[in-house]
Amino acid sequence: MPDKKESPDLKNLSFSDSVSYYFDKASPFTGAPQGLLDQIKTCNSIYKMNFPVKYGNEVRVIEAYRVQHSHHRMPTKGGIRYSLQVDQDEVMALAALMTYKCALVDVPFGGAKGGIKISPRQTSPEILENITRRYTTELVKKNFIGPGIDVPAPDYGTGEREMAWILDTYVTLNPGEINGYGCVTGKPISQNGIHGRTEATGRGVVYALNEICSYKDDMKDLGLETGLEGKRVIVQGLGNVGYHTARIITQYGAKVIAIAEADGAVYDENGLDIDHLYKYRQEKKSVKGYTKGAAKVIADSASALELECDILIPAALEKQITEKNASRIKAKIVAEAANGPVTPAAENILLKKGVMIIPDIYVNAGGVTVSYFEWLKNLSHVRFGRMQKRWEEKHQTDFIKLIEELTGKTVPKARIESLIHGADEIDLVNSGLEDTMIEAYRDIREFKKRRKSEIDIRTAAFAVSINKIKNSYYAMGIFP
Ligand code: GLU
Repeated sequence: MPDKKESPDLKNLSFSDSVSYYFDKASPFTGAPQGLLDQIKTCNSIYKMNFPVKYGNEVRVIEAYRVQHSHHRMPTKGGIRYSLQVDQDEVMALAALMTYKCALVDVPFGGAKGGIKISPRQTSPEILENITRRYTTELVKKNFIGPGIDVPAPDYGTGEREMAWILDTYVTLNPGEINGYGCVTGKPISQNGIHGRTEATGRGVVYALNEICSYKDDMKDLGLETGLEGKRVIVQGLGNVGYHTARIITQYGAKVIAIAEADGAVYDENGLDIDHLYKYRQEKKSVKGYTKGAAKVIADSASALELECDILIPAALEKQITEKNASRIKAKIVAEAANGPVTPAAENILLKKGVMIIPDIYVNAGGVTVSYFEWLKNLSHVRFGRMQKRWEEKHQTDFIKLIEELTGKTVPKARIESLIHGADEIDLVNSGLEDTMIEAYRDIREFKKRRKSEIDIRTAAFAVSINKIKNSYYAMGIFP
């Protein structure tokens, strides 16, 4: 077995160094030559920009980035983040994760990421719009955006509204471009978005966990029952990813016993009413004072991650579980719905404790998967299901009539309705997403099982991903 490279300075790695650390850890399992590994690992293009924006009577210089990590597949793909934490290292790390994520789930894009160093909460919608449009113009000027070049999407601090501004700016600057709508994903439905994109990352996390928890032996090793039913879950973050993950996992019979937010955590051993809590937080802009049922607010939000539970889902930002709190984590499974929430130093501590860590590049890949479906919809200029839905329904109706004729029995009306229902766009999106999450986990699990020596899930996921990228380079004929 190849030597594990244990960096002496694991505690002080930057975010992008941690991604490289995981890459290096997995590389020996890929059989790829060093030159090719170097090419896969490096960032292909980094565009740092500074532009002026008016804030009332003053002008401020805005710092922003777009990083295209890998051009082995085009276009490149990845979200745009609005946060005061944004810097070049963070965007590079996130872009690299996008490359590995896309390869792992067979989404045929290179990885990219964008970031603007602003606080979206403290910026008015008018200024946010100006910044977004100016950022898009800068991308257009340098040929850093386009349906075949680089396709942004939402990330932390951005959503449909920002994507609509990006789209409008792009199509204005590129009149007549027939595939212009494919320049960005995560758009509102009315702007050629796709049903199911908003909740896709959260839904993907749940599909992944449902698959992971279905393996009896794996669950037995963790001291858990098979299936999601009855699992006690803690989610960090009630943003888009955290909210939908928490909401959907309860539909599978799991109990969300705590949600940790920036200004406090809410805890209820009997399970929280997610929609009620979400609405409360929307209205009050805080979780403080929430008391429904037996719910209690814990002022020290970070301490909620250390409560007794089966599954812990960090769905906020990077570096949330570090060497400082890892030893106190009691969850049996940690699923990285956020990008980079567990640091390498923390990972080593958790793995020694026998915790199963489901890495970001797999478990949060649902967002980009449905972005891919949206992009396909935009390029094909037709909604999924439009051509076949009625045909399917007619075909199924004929079939049921035939059964009734042959048996002389009548199928109940309610049963007929569910049997003949032709697939809508949302049905196809969710089915494609579920299949993607199941297949990718099977690839990772098999790869891990095939090794003679024990490797962790992240290492297996990185190795599977690197192998797929390696094969693309081989197919291009660039490497012997
Ligand atoms: N920002 C999301 C991520 O980190 C989605 C990216 C996309 O849809 O392109 O995966």
